Amino acid sequence: MRLTRYFLPVLKETPAEAQIASHRLMLRAGMIKQSSAGIYSWLPLGWKVLRRIEQIVHEEQMRAGHHPMLMPTLQPADLWRESGRYDAYGPEMLRIRDRGDRDMLYGPTNEEMITDIVRSHVSSYRDLPLTLYHIQWKFRDEVRPRFGVMRGREFLMKDGYNFDLDEAGARHAYNRHLVSYLRTYERLGLQAIPMRADSGPIGGDDTHEFLVLAETGESEVFYDSEVTDIRLGAREIDYDDADQCRGVLEEFTSRYARTDETHDEAVFAEVPEARRRTARGIEVGQIFYFGTKYSEPMGATVQGPDGKPVPLHMGSHGIGVSRLVGAIIEASHDDKGIVWPEGVTPFHAGIVNLKQGDTSTDSACEGIYAQLRAEGLDPLYDDRKERAGAKFATMDLIGLPWRVTVGPRGLQAGKVELTSRRTGESEEMSPEAAIARLKAVYGVGV
Ligand code: ATP
Ligand code: MG
Repeated sequence: MRLTRYFLPVLKETPAEAQIASHRLMLRAGMIKQSSAGIYSWLPLGWKVLRRIEQIVHEEQMRAGHHPMLMPTLQPADLWRESGRYDAYGPEMLRIRDRGDRDMLYGPTNEEMITDIVRSHVSSYRDLPLTLYHIQWKFRDEVRPRFGVMRGREFLMKDGYNFDLDEAGARHAYNRHLVSYLRTYERLGLQAIPMRADSGPIGGDDTHEFLVLAETGESEVFYDSEVTDIRLGAREIDYDDADQCRGVLEEFTSRYARTDETHDEAVFAEVPEARRRTARGIEVGQIFYFGTKYSEPMGATVQGPDGKPVPLHMGSHGIGVSRLVGAIIEASHDDKGIVWPEGVTPFHAGIVNLKQGDTSTDSACEGIYAQLRAEGLDPLYDDRKERAGAKFATMDLIGLPWRVTVGPRGLQAGKVELTSRRTGESEEMSPEAAIARLKAVYGVGV
């Protein structure tokens, strides 16, 4: 993309309404625009990041054997009357009446709708196990929408639902989700720690939240510092292997790690003092096992192997896709702006032309721009007639991991400069070497 043709409405001033870094930076970098409290438009740069996160979430869900689909945002109230949640959910639910006087609602979650789909089409134990998910906008009329996309009223969530014949099957699904979530967050460049949590209005008897440690997080968390040393890394996972999935869950959840809702001072005191930590965290996902809580009242049964009807065992599992954009920025920024992890960056590299209008500099930039695109990379070329300082400030603000700086003086020696946003280190090299380096970083053509 050429910056002169792009829509990147960066702000010079720091918006007064933004209290935390991610909100400030998303507004300043022209990623979002508030439409009303807790409701945002995603401008082109923000939308690109959102799509990259969504893509990684899809890939990891499908890798775990879960099937993508799409349910509507508007739901009939009658489904929620069946489960008993229509009255129980409270003022967070946006209730709407259509022209035929039917009660509708903007979905805050989808347990009822997915249970209705499955009870209509799944009748035998042979159709199980089954896990369906979608990535769809949700609405919750939060009392205090704040921190930009971190606590919105309209927000994008991946929500998945498993249907199993018995508790053992549903426990495997729970553990499988935990593993797939760990992989997802690691690919996003984040460490999200599974912590024992409270089940809230979803209900159920087993649940973990995934928390990214950050001072601006809304949850208070208590943990054994050893939990921050474990990584899934590149290990091979067989998602069908129940023992392996359980092993990973045990490895990641055997040490103390809880949110304030389930925190227990007496148990925490057993952790050696030097390893006891109290901090704040951002909840970026949660998994639940709740057995037959929805299937029983909604009559979602299958014919078991002995011919008798059995209620489905279920769980539901959510990732806060739009909140993740903010969480990644909270975890990765400096005083100049955002520092995107390579896995989610909106553009792979920026090209800064130090002397726009100079024939040889322009043609070197055009060459690098064309070659990067030919390699399947997505560069942002700053082709504006601006001072170098202004161009650098924009690049630093929007946080592309790599910058190729091209100027007449360097070109005389056949060199451009490649700069890492994270370390600030620059290296001079030929344009070809810079392209080769970027290809290697992003794993293209290897
Ligand atoms: P919270 O405790 O933060 O209100 P929740 O526990 O009610 O969230 P879940 O039902 O677990 O939310 O939803 C799954 C995920 O969706 C959460 O882990 C979070 O990342 C995200 N999420 C929930 N509410 C919001 C919101 N208002 N804005 C943005 N993301 C949200
Ligand atoms: Mg939650």
